[in-house]
Amino acid sequence: MITFKNVSKQYNTKDGDLVAVNDVNIKVDDGQIFGIVGYSGAGKSTLVRMLDGLEAPTSGEIDINGTNIASLYGSALRKQRQKVGMIFQHFNLLWSRTVIKNVMLPLEIAGVSKPERIKRARHLIELVGLQGRENSYPSELSGGQKQRVGIARALANDPEILISDEATSALDPDTTNEVLDLLLKINKEMNLTILLITHEMHAITKVCDAVAVMDNGSVVEQGSVFEVFRNP
Ligand code: ADP
Ligand code: ADP
Repeated sequence: MITFKNVSKQYNTKDGDLVAVNDVNIKVDDGQIFGIVGYSGAGKSTLVRMLDGLEAPTSGEIDINGTNIASLYGSALRKQRQKVGMIFQHFNLLWSRTVIKNVMLPLEIAGVSKPERIKRARHLIELVGLQGRENSYPSELSGGQKQRVGIARALANDPEILISDEATSALDPDTTNEVLDLLLKINKEMNLTILLITHEMHAITKVCDAVAVMDNGSVVEQGSVFEVFRNP
């Protein structure tokens, strides 16, 4: 379970203090696909960076399965960050590495042996439907295929959560649907909790169980997709 308890984040900028996240309370149950939706500047990326331990909240607490992320340092934080898989709008693949080497990278960092890395990467490449493309370079792949590599890499260390940060925003509608179907499959088959950050309403209504709507740093609505988006 993921909980944000009264989480605020303030930046000190040259124009004064800027409240990027304002007293946010969110609860994500295990196995859910939970959407965070809002316009640009709403505070979504700031929430994600805090959840991944890249930034600490100014106040409040963020727990992942009972661990307060902001209380971790050094190797404990690095271990925790391996439990969070991330996929991104621009894929963030290494262009000089083949598909399989991209997927093996997090395993290398985690110190997994080479035979085990290869075995696990092959399995993940098959899971995302890219068998046969192991030795391709990212530049040889379509946008949807690149995101499949991103997903395989994000799953490499068997994470407790997968965060999708606008991961379909650069894709056309058909490819977006394929990637969302893959996320649904992973959610069901691996019982993996997924946090889906997006400004695309369609993505939310297609795959999410629950949703928080953010505006100007605050959660303005939260509940099941049915509750939040039913027509009055
Ligand atoms: P979103 O992801 O919803 O587009 P962000 O979390 O990126 O929103 O940004 C929320 C607000 O915080 C914006 O006003 C943004 O300019 C500001 N912001 C984000 N990161 C920083 C930072 N490192 N320093 C100062 N302001 C920031
Ligand atoms: P995105 O919308 O994809 O988050 P942005 O261009 O808003 O991309 O932000 C890119 C980076 O710049 C982020 O790491 C964010 O923290 C930082 N950033 C965003 N707004 C500001 C700001 N007003 N001042 C300083 N850094 C910012």
